[in-house]
Amino acid sequence: MKYHLVTLGCQMNKSDSERIATVVEDLGYVVTDHEEEADLIGIVACSVRQAAIDRVYSKIHRWNQLKRDKNLLTFVTGCILPTDREKFLKLFDLCFQISELPELPAMIRQYGVPTPLSSGVAHDPAEDAARLEAEGFAEVEEDGHKAIAGRPVMMKQPETRIAGFWDIRPHYQSRSEAFIPIQNGCDKFCTFCAVPYTRGREISRPSADILAEVRRLVEQGYRSITLLGQNVNSYGRDKPNEEMRFAELLEEIGRYGDACGERFWLYFTSPHPRDMQDEVLEVIARYHCLAKQIHLPVQSGDNKLLIRMNRNHSVQDYRRIVAAIRNFLPTATLFTDIIVGFSGETDEQFENTVKLMEDVEFDMAFIARYSPRPGAASSRWEDDVSPDVKKARMHRLSEILRAHSVSHNARMLGDVYPVLVTGKGRKEGFMSGLTEGKINIRFASEDESLVGQIVDVEITRTGPFAVEGRLCE
Ligand code: SF4
Repeated sequence: MKYHLVTLGCQMNKSDSERIATVVEDLGYVVTDHEEEADLIGIVACSVRQAAIDRVYSKIHRWNQLKRDKNLLTFVTGCILPTDREKFLKLFDLCFQISELPELPAMIRQYGVPTPLSSGVAHDPAEDAARLEAEGFAEVEEDGHKAIAGRPVMMKQPETRIAGFWDIRPHYQSRSEAFIPIQNGCDKFCTFCAVPYTRGREISRPSADILAEVRRLVEQGYRSITLLGQNVNSYGRDKPNEEMRFAELLEEIGRYGDACGERFWLYFTSPHPRDMQDEVLEVIARYHCLAKQIHLPVQSGDNKLLIRMNRNHSVQDYRRIVAAIRNFLPTATLFTDIIVGFSGETDEQFENTVKLMEDVEFDMAFIARYSPRPGAASSRWEDDVSPDVKKARMHRLSEILRAHSVSHNARMLGDVYPVLVTGKGRKEGFMSGLTEGKINIRFASEDESLVGQIVDVEITRTGPFAVEGRLCE
């Protein structure tokens, strides 16, 4: 029996999918890229843009058509707004929060679906039902849902079960780069973002589990490990007397990493400027394995807009953090996220973002044109910056970024950099990789056995957003 999984959205959803793969493969399902072949189809939804939600609807309509010819079970999880959840319950067989993933096998059995490994193994549906009920699930019978699936749906009461989810060992997609979720949810309520409504409030994963996962990955030869969360640097704040703070977590990893004898780079994404303390930067400076690369979203260079976005920090705060990064981590690359054309953004406010970009000289910026996100507070406000103005503003920031990238990369010429080889390059006869600062690099080689290794490369040519080099002996 086969399963097909569609993942929409951000790195957090991709990381969640690695745990979903473990659960369904442990049931004996084998992955397929072709939905027509699948007996179980799931989608990890994203509510960041309407386009992503529309994709979920178009997919499920197609999958429900496939049901005419075969026995097919469908599920949806991920970032789902309460309003969409109501509709999804009528369209999918199963709709669950990602924290409820450990219950997926029992939910599938409740449908009377024989999973591959259950053939010959007796599962008592009454037992499963009793257990699910005891664990807070309730049986919901929706007329619309029954009309499509012909079976009742099990929906759990809202209750956090994220610990069981974190205990699942993921099927990592790569053998050299891995992401480790260290928290779930967000307490910040930025007005352009729906995450606090889809994933709930911030919950920190136990540090012992995180450290164990880091060790396991390092022992398996992983070279790039990223701690993942909506707000990584507020890690531990929800458990003040119980858990480490983020700087302490980094310190533990740094101590282990530098002593273990393996070479790897430890990243984290994304931190919030409001929680960015010098202590974190001091710790990164102390340990080789803590990568000298910071991704710190700023979103806007204007104080009034930052207030309207509910970011809870000022441009001056952000500049102070940048100065601290330059001070403690002089070789670090600095990445950011920026939104242009946010509701109410004036020309003058945009010019303040231009000024910030010119002053800070980011190595990379992910620049997005604002579009209202369903469920976010700003979706109720007028989207009053025209598409043409948004496009022009984005273009202007992109040009500044490009110029800075050209001049930063030019400074790399002639130097030797350790590079994590990530795969074949797009150019024939080249391999590609990333420096510790996540600068794209390619070098002449066709040796695919280098993938996953850190090699030394001398930079021979530079350009915007990428450099070229020669593999050192
Ligand atoms: S910090 Fe803001 S943008 Fe990031 S997940 Fe939380 S609410 Fe969304």
